[in-house]
Amino acid sequence: MNVYKSVASLFLLVSIPGLLQGQSPAPSPAPPVFGYADFSAQAKIEDKFLSVPNAKLAGRHLKILTAEPHLAATPEDHKTAEYVAQKFRAAGLETQIVPYRVLLNWPKSVHVEAYDSSGKLLMSGPAREHVDKDPGQNNPRVVMPFNGSSGSGDVTGDVVYANYGRLEDFNELAARHIDLHGKIVIARYGSNFRGVKVYLAEQRGAGGVLLYSDPQDDGYYKGDAYPRGPWRPETGVQRGSVQYLFKYAGDPETPGVASTLDLSESARIKNFVGPNGDQPRIPSIPISYHDAAPILQALKGPGVPQGWQGALPFSYHLGQIGGPGGVEVHLVSVQDYRRRIIWDVIGTIRGSEYPDDWVVAGNHRDAWVYGAVDPSSGTAAMLESVHGIGALLEQGWRPKRTIVFCSWDAEEEGLVGSTEWVEQHDQTLQRAVAYFNVDVAVSGPDFSASAVPSLKEFVRGVTRAVPSPLGGTVFEEWRASHALPNENRAASFELPGEEVHMGDLGSGSDFTPFLQHVGVPSTDIGSSGPYGVYHSTFDDFAWYIQNADPHFVYLQQMARVFGLEAIRMADTDVLPYDYVMYAREISAYIDQAKRSAANSGLNSLDFGPAEAAADRLKSAAQKARSIEVSATGDLAKLNLALRQTETAFISDAGLPGRPWYRHTIYAPGEFTGYSAVVIPGVNEAIDARNPGLAAAQLTVLTQVLDRATRTLDSIN
Ligand SMILES: [Zn+2]
Repeated sequence: MNVYKSVASLFLLVSIPGLLQGQSPAPSPAPPVFGYADFSAQAKIEDKFLSVPNAKLAGRHLKILTAEPHLAATPEDHKTAEYVAQKFRAAGLETQIVPYRVLLNWPKSVHVEAYDSSGKLLMSGPAREHVDKDPGQNNPRVVMPFNGSSGSGDVTGDVVYANYGRLEDFNELAARHIDLHGKIVIARYGSNFRGVKVYLAEQRGAGGVLLYSDPQDDGYYKGDAYPRGPWRPETGVQRGSVQYLFKYAGDPETPGVASTLDLSESARIKNFVGPNGDQPRIPSIPISYHDAAPILQALKGPGVPQGWQGALPFSYHLGQIGGPGGVEVHLVSVQDYRRRIIWDVIGTIRGSEYPDDWVVAGNHRDAWVYGAVDPSSGTAAMLESVHGIGALLEQGWRPKRTIVFCSWDAEEEGLVGSTEWVEQHDQTLQRAVAYFNVDVAVSGPDFSASAVPSLKEFVRGVTRAVPSPLGGTVFEEWRASHALPNENRAASFELPGEEVHMGDLGSGSDFTPFLQHVGVPSTDIGSSGPYGVYHSTFDDFAWYIQNADPHFVYLQQMARVFGLEAIRMADTDVLPYDYVMYAREISAYIDQAKRSAANSGLNSLDFGPAEAAADRLKSAAQKARSIEVSATGDLAKLNLALRQTETAFISDAGLPGRPWYRHTIYAPGEFTGYSAVVIPGVNEAIDARNPGLAAAQLTVLTQVLDRATRTLDSIN
């Protein structure tokens, strides 16, 4: 077999601009594909698959899934589980609805009122989410805006404005000697994960937090608000979890343990609230800018630093502390915490050659309200992927590896359904060859993806095989849109020469337990556009067909990409991991950390051993390629070693202060939450100006890189 030579020629083909232009999306004869000795038979299977996912049917799934609000653990959520299970079964998947019992809060009452220093009432809310015309807004099952994992409390305090509630924002307040003890912090959404805002406020002694959506970030400043356009209307509220996700994901009571129905009481932990757990102690309430404006407008005290002014039509102030002119907020949040039953839906197709090697593909199903974009667009796309795979099964095809499709519950509360399932199957998942995630499949036409470096070229390859609704392939559209500036695209590490940049995996969706707890190579895909109704009641079917994808052709596109990821990975001869790319990225991360250590004055740190280990990994990866080119025999052994190379990056001890996170190359940042921090043990120790810890973490990194090198060398 001649896998890598073929790959080289594919690179050559696509690196000459224009060569592919004008060709149809699936040219014949089939181009060589990474991992396949001869792709021609597989190309026929893939063509058959691509012809099945249907835009109209995807639109029908979306309409059914978004017919009612379906918050995790509600009867309406269970109904969507049954719908998904029925579609899985109809396609021929061996299907189970898998329950877990997990701690979740629902709001009993949420109230905010604000007074100026003369005692005049400024606002009393929250106001109901309402626009001129929206078919879903009056349904009594729409849950009042609240934060998952919020503390309960009844607190009164002076208000301080903290911009985005980033570490640097709180540092700025501290530099101005603004004491937050007992204060109510008002912070705008954006820039980091909302749980980080509450975490930092709680650490500084705040009594409560108001989180609001500033029109600058997803409202009228961006464009017309819904129902005229796609952006957030005046009363739209972003619900969301404030769990300390960067500590651990899943059920707060069971880090590392699956919350099965028969789990004993003694297996649950008690101190999960406050700085040692993953739940805030203080209450937080999400509000609209309709409710935030009177508070912000009445704030006195110093004017805000540069960059803190939002788009409301007055000058923002930080707040007057200790004296007349302050704004006092009374905040009441009563949360009903209970263990509630949630339902994952798991559909399996047993592999014909490697049944123990799983390809897992998942999407969450629960929504804060209707969740047309987040996540039902993902579920609708996944159901059409499954439809396509069902058609292949009917024609007698069997994947070589086992494919598992998963519909996760309670993602919104903290990746709960996926995490509990991963914790239950962590031994089996040691062999899982990939986890493919989709969450928000479609909010517009711009394709994007994130992945571990070893799978970046794989994802690009899949998109080269899928037609775009705009003509050409998804890959071509992706590359064209990528050339345009886009402030919404996450800034992350970019290597020179990358044809289309792909992001790193931080957190905020269900790939986290797979990659960062167990070490399953993962990817995440989506297609985005202007979207200002995130986590509000207005993320509904009416918004979707008006603003995102009226003919559901992007649902069809995402169904094809998602399904093809699973099929191509399940049938591959050699697992298509690119460890040369992985090693190059790690070298670049070490380089960057070295520079930031120098900038922080940590000049005594010795990066030499880690740099040398990354170089050894690169050589081993290059050698592994040439060994594979000449490989004749034991593909199973070869694939196992390739898979175990990712496992080598897992440290049993986990990251300092958060042992649930065990991946030494990627983690969600403690102060960013969603975006990835790379080589987190090292970088977070440098950020904390802790040279002892940084040195120890460099040693850990050197060891895991050498373990990965030995694993690759064992291929010989
Ligand atoms: Zn989501």
